[in-house]
Amino acid sequence: MSVYKIVTYPAPILRIKARIVQSISASQRVFLINMAETMYDNKVAVGLAAEQVSLDEKLVVIDVCDKNGLIKLINPRIKEKKGETILMEEGCMSMPGISVVVPRAEKVKVEAKDERGRAIILEADGFLARVIQHEIDHLNGKLIIDYLSPAKKLLVESKYRVKKTFNKIGKGAK
Ligand SMILES: [Zn+2]
Repeated sequence: MSVYKIVTYPAPILRIKARIVQSISASQRVFLINMAETMYDNKVAVGLAAEQVSLDEKLVVIDVCDKNGLIKLINPRIKEKKGETILMEEGCMSMPGISVVVPRAEKVKVEAKDERGRAIILEADGFLARVIQHEIDHLNGKLIIDYLSPAKKLLVESKYRVKKTFNKIGKGAK
């Protein structure tokens, strides 16, 4: 098992739409195990999408420490959103240092495939529903900053760009 490096904003892979997995191979099953390892390695992480570890495929792992345990989803898609829209602050491993208030549906019904390629339907509410929506956003190239007002988003984006440039200069000077 291995722990992958987390890709952080503004890496281009975070902005692309992940590809649909046609058939699940042994290497993809190993990839899912390593994704889970990577998620557990980060003490506060409750979910991870493949794009966050440099693979543009529709693979997600989630564990919100409830009765469901570790959930692995292949090609997850929201079929239905129900309940109220709930506002809550979210962070993201790919955007360290910021949190954004994100509106999410209270309940979701999700269509996906499991590791063996069988079609599954997952109904979730509360925190799990929120995490599922966050990870599916990743698969569509969407990030928490997209929920900010345009002005705030520009400000946050520029901060990340400055940080990236600074890191580059820092490395070059060594
Ligand atoms: Zn995230």
